[in-house]
Amino acid sequence: MPAFPQKFHSTVSHWQQTNRGPTSLWNHGRKTQLPTDKVVDYVIIGAGASGTSLAYHLSRAGGAAEGKSVVILDAKDVASGASGRNGGHVPTQTWRMFAPFMAPKEKGGAGLSADDVLDIIFFMQDNLDLVERLVQEEGIDADFKRTQRFEVLTTPEGVAENERLRKFYLDILARSTKHKGRSLDVEVIWDTAQAKKMSRVKNALAVNRAIAGSWHPHRGVTALMRRALESKHADVKFFSWAPVAGFTENADGTVSVDCGDRGIVTARKLIVATCAYTHHLMPELKNIYRLQAGLVVPPASFSGEQALNATYAVEQAAYLIQTPNAGFVFGPYEKVAVQSGLTTKQDMYNVEDDSVATAPYREWLSNFCRTAFAGWGEETPGEGLTTMWSGILCHSVDLIPMVGPVPGRTNTFMTAGYSGMGMAMIINITRGLANQLKTGEWDETVPRCFQLTEERLDKAKECLQPREYSVPKLDQARL
Ligand SMILES: Cc1cc2nc3c(=O)[nH]c(=O)nc-3n(C[C@H](O)[C@H](O)[C@H](O)COP(=O)(O)OP(=O)(O)OC[C@H]3O[C@@H](n4cnc5c(N)ncnc54)[C@H](O)[C@@H]3O)c2cc1C
Repeated sequence: MPAFPQKFHSTVSHWQQTNRGPTSLWNHGRKTQLPTDKVVDYVIIGAGASGTSLAYHLSRAGGAAEGKSVVILDAKDVASGASGRNGGHVPTQTWRMFAPFMAPKEKGGAGLSADDVLDIIFFMQDNLDLVERLVQEEGIDADFKRTQRFEVLTTPEGVAENERLRKFYLDILARSTKHKGRSLDVEVIWDTAQAKKMSRVKNALAVNRAIAGSWHPHRGVTALMRRALESKHADVKFFSWAPVAGFTENADGTVSVDCGDRGIVTARKLIVATCAYTHHLMPELKNIYRLQAGLVVPPASFSGEQALNATYAVEQAAYLIQTPNAGFVFGPYEKVAVQSGLTTKQDMYNVEDDSVATAPYREWLSNFCRTAFAGWGEETPGEGLTTMWSGILCHSVDLIPMVGPVPGRTNTFMTAGYSGMGMAMIINITRGLANQLKTGEWDETVPRCFQLTEERLDKAKECLQPREYSVPKLDQARL
C-alpha cells in the first residue's frame, strides 16, 4: 500500500498558517511534468530543512552541483513535515548532553566518548553561527534572532546533575587537545532568586544561560529553497506533491526513483532526506514519535517591552520561544506528555498521523504559561491558546544522526535521525554532506560518529519495533 497520499489531513501549524503569500512555495511544481526523460545528477527526496538545505549547499558556486541538475521531490509541500511544525528554535546544547550521549547503548544512550560529545556540542554552536551567517548573507526574511537560551532547572536533582555534568565537561575540555581554546558560551545562574527574576519562571531553581537562535522555520526553509531554485550555478527544480513510492539501483549505477502516477525519475545520486517517513523507503529505519505544540497569545504582561528575551528549555516541562509578533510557541517534552497523561505511549510512538490536536494537550497548553510564568495575569478574548498542531519526528537507534552513503547501496545517501534536535544541526550537517558529495570523502568538520556505518544500520534493523525516546542518565561511575 503506498504511504502517500495519506488518508488524513495534517493539522496546520502556526508557521504554516503564516507563510501563505506570494513568496511562499505552496504547490510549487505540483502540476509540472517530472523530468522522466533524462538522467538527473542529484535527486533529493524530502523538502524539509534537510533536503532543502542540502539543495542550497549543492547549488552554491563551486558546489557539487555546479553545472549539474538537482531535483527535489516532496510528497506534500515544502516544510510540510517536522520542519514546518517545530518550536522555532535554532538551539545549542550544553554539558547536559553528556548524559544521553555517553550513557551506554544498552541503556538507551549513544555510547559515545567524551570527545565525541564535545564534537557534537561545538558542532551545534557552529550550526547557530552558520544559520546566522546564511540569513545575513542571503538576506533571508525569517525573523531570525540570535538570542539567549535559558535552560531552566526546576528540581534539586536537576540542579545537582547540572553541576556534576558541568564539572565533568570542564574536566574533559581541559584534557581535550582537539578542542583546545574552545568553550561553551554558558553562564550558570545558581542563585534561585536571580534565576526566578531573570527567567520569570515561578519554580526556577537555577538557569544555564546559553546562546541560541530562533526563527520562523517555514519562512526560513522556504527562503533557502528559493535561493536554491534561483541558483545561477546549478539547475535546481522542486516538485511538490510528488510522493516517492520506492527506488531501485540499476546495473549502470543510476537510481530509479518511482513517483507513481508522476513517473520515474532517474538519478546519478539519490539523497533520502525524509526524516520520520524514511521507513517507507528503507524499512529498517523505523523509530518515530509524535509531538503536539501550540501558539499562545500572551496578555500585555508579556508583550512589548515585557516580552521574553530568550528561548526556553524548562526542565520537566516544555521548550518555548516567543515570536516577534504572534506569541509563545511551545510544547511539552515527550516524557512530560506521557508522564502527565496527555498521551499514551501507543498514541505517541510509531504513529504517523499528524492530523490530531487532542483535548488533554489543549488543556495543558492553555494552562502552561499562566501556571509557569510569574505575573502572567488575566487573558482576555483573543489571548491564550489560538492554534494547536502535531508533528512527527524520527530518532535513530543510538540518538545521533545518520548521515552519508547508505551501506550496501550504490549512489544512495541519507541524512535523518536527529532525535528531536534537528534544527540544532541540519544546516551544518547538510553543508558537510554537500562537501562529501563533491569530494567523495567524509567532511571532517562533521562529527565522525554521525556517519551511517554498516554496524549502525544493522543495529537499527535489530530495533524494528519502535523504541521509546527517553533521556538516559550518565552513570556516576563515568563522571
Ligand atoms: C513539535 C516539534 C518540536 C520540535 N522542536 C525542536 C527543537 O526544539 N529543537 C530542534 O532542534 N528540533 C526540534 N524539532 C525537530 C526538527 O523539527 C526536525 O528534526 C527537523 O525539522 C527534521 O527536518 P527534516 O527535513 O529531516 O524532516 P522533515 O521536515 O520532516 O521533512 C521530511 C520531508 O520528507 C517528505 N517525504 C517523506 N517521505 C517522502 C516520500 N516517500 N516521498 C516524497 N517526500 C517524502 C515529507 O513530506 C517532508 O516534507 C521539533 C519537531 C517537532 C515536530
